[in-house]
Amino acid sequence: MLHIKCPHCGLRSQNEFSYGGDATVKRPELNKEVSDQDWDNFVYLRKSPRGKHLELWQHISGCRQWIKVERDTLTHEIFKTLKANEEAQ
Ligand SMILES: [Zn+2]
Repeated sequence: MLHIKCPHCGLRSQNEFSYGGDATVKRPELNKEVSDQDWDNFVYLRKSPRGKHLELWQHISGCRQWIKVERDTLTHEIFKTLKANEEAQ
């Protein structure tokens, strides 16, 4: 079982969190022309990386905040966690 350090609550069990997907996906800019293909890619296409990856998780049984987790998808090692509005270095 993973233990995730919520930036708001501290170290908690993975059971308190829900996985929210890839944190590197950027929404197309507002008020700009977006092709159907670009919109489809944003909505449906996701990579399945092997190794270090930045993910979104929600602390559903705690503060309910969305956070970013930098995790190795192969070893499940967690390198760092950030508030949702913080940028990874
Ligand atoms: Zn929390």
